[in-house]
Amino acid sequence: MPSRRATARRVGLVLMGSVLAAFILPLLLPFPQSEEGLTLCYPVVGPVQRFNAGLSGPALARTRAHENAHAAQCRRDGAIWHFVRGAFPRKRLAAEAEAYCAEASYGVSNGGTARLEYARIQDELREMAWFRRVPSDALNNSLRLQCPLIAVAAAREEADQGVRQRPHIGARGRTVTPWVPQASLRR
Ligand SMILES: [Zn+2]
Repeated sequence: MPSRRATARRVGLVLMGSVLAAFILPLLLPFPQSEEGLTLCYPVVGPVQRFNAGLSGPALARTRAHENAHAAQCRRDGAIWHFVRGAFPRKRLAAEAEAYCAEASYGVSNGGTARLEYARIQDELREMAWFRRVPSDALNNSLRLQCPLIAVAAAREEADQGVRQRPHIGARGRTVTPWVPQASLRR
């Protein structure tokens, strides 16, 4: 019968091996094609990132903006708290909303409109498997909290768009259809 000390040593080795495998395997395995980027958060080392080799140009820059937000969260929280946060849907939602906001900010600072960028990240957040059961209101609130500047700019653009699309109301409250020369319609 193996002594207690030998059993403890064996259990310790198996545990250490499992922890090492959990840390090292994501770095060695082929990158999943369904993912665009990945940020792993290690104790002491900090964030380690991997990106889909098929991405380039603006798509890669956008993914980098998202993953860099996760890297900043890893540095800010530390690996253990980062891991714990990821296990609670509400905390995870806040972290993802922050990362998607970084994507939208990248889009807006590169010529995108806040309204479209905001709508895009709202959709992307809603499509994440993690948040399928989260009500839309909760998703939108979290995004608004994590991304106040773009949310406000998007709402302003939305309101402007609504004003522009509403028909002109004449002095007596009639709807006035602007006169359009026929020739210009056929051109
Ligand atoms: Zn993310």
